[in-house]
Amino acid sequence: MQIKCNVLDRQFQMHQEEYEEAALRVLRSGWYVLGKEVEQFEQEFAAYTGRKYCVGLNSGLDALIMSVRALEIGEGDEVIVQANTYIATVLGITENKAVPVFIEPDEFFNMDAQKIEKAITPRTKAIMVTHLYGQASNMNLIAELAKRHQLALIEDCAQSHGACYEGKMTGSFGISGCFSFYPTKNLGAFGDAGAVVTDDKEFADQIRMMRNYGSRIRYYNEIQGLNSRLDEMQAALLRVKLKYINALNEERRRLAAAYDSGIKNEKIILPKVRAGADSIYHQYVIRCKEREKLQKFLQEQDIQTQIHYPIPPHLAKCYRHLGHKKGEFPLTEQYADEVLSLPIYTGMTDDEQQYVIARLNEF
Ligand SMILES: *Cc1c(COP(=O)(O)O)cnc(C)c1O
Repeated sequence: MQIKCNVLDRQFQMHQEEYEEAALRVLRSGWYVLGKEVEQFEQEFAAYTGRKYCVGLNSGLDALIMSVRALEIGEGDEVIVQANTYIATVLGITENKAVPVFIEPDEFFNMDAQKIEKAITPRTKAIMVTHLYGQASNMNLIAELAKRHQLALIEDCAQSHGACYEGKMTGSFGISGCFSFYPTKNLGAFGDAGAVVTDDKEFADQIRMMRNYGSRIRYYNEIQGLNSRLDEMQAALLRVKLKYINALNEERRRLAAAYDSGIKNEKIILPKVRAGADSIYHQYVIRCKEREKLQKFLQEQDIQTQIHYPIPPHLAKCYRHLGHKKGEFPLTEQYADEVLSLPIYTGMTDDEQQYVIARLNEF
């Protein structure tokens, strides 16, 4: 049996007619960028996350870059970020010439909130928290620290659509919730797309201007903007998927529970979920001291796995100039050497999953 990391057409087939109807509606409308579908999606997604405003953008990376920029964080400023996040989180900071200050993760792969306070300096302007692999971070403590030190709180929710901390949606704790709708994300479009959600009208207006060349009124450019517009096709297709997101997340939770109870191998450490947090299992990430051997063994059985992420940002070639060294963030580096993401996707059959579990238990 061949098992891929991700099989995207299965969730398309689940609601194929609705997606095709939405696509045809856009094709026939004669309006393709920033229109009624985008406005509707923005309202619906703001409501879903429990926020007042949503601004649709071109990507999750743009949501991060533009949030930092709209908060006027730039050269000489520091932003606290977890060391084991995806490179895009860090790019959101460095694209604005601000400096990332890395924090080690906790046992749940999220930012270790206990280590934040020591990293705060007079130059610190914001905390950027990633709800990695779909699990909400320790938001009570992080939101409290941000408030006490008057730091902006930006959430990278690219992997956490619908994940909650104590019943409150990720993306609703700070001034800015940054989402990606890249096709493999839990709420994935059929191309690139992203959004910012917020309760702050001025911040939303600023992002809205920035996404369209810095203008509110066409050809009246108030700020130096970008082109980060969401198109009607992606918005219309996202509106269909948004109706089913809770069921899609539920299915991943069910698959995660089957991994939890089925995998029985002393060499494998299963992922844990923090009390009060929940996970939408964007990834199901195990740890193994013999990770390379395990990945190769699974590959030989035709099971694909992925590593999120093999090189932490502080050791990435592109950030050599930041001057970090190997050994500086030992837990982050250990995770980079040990983590392995198992196949988990909407439409994965029990047979497929049992095959993966059986091979893991043989290892
Ligand atoms: C996917 C992802 C992003 C970037 O989103 P894009 O839409 O690909 O730009 C940012 N942060 C995290 C944690 C991600 O997983």
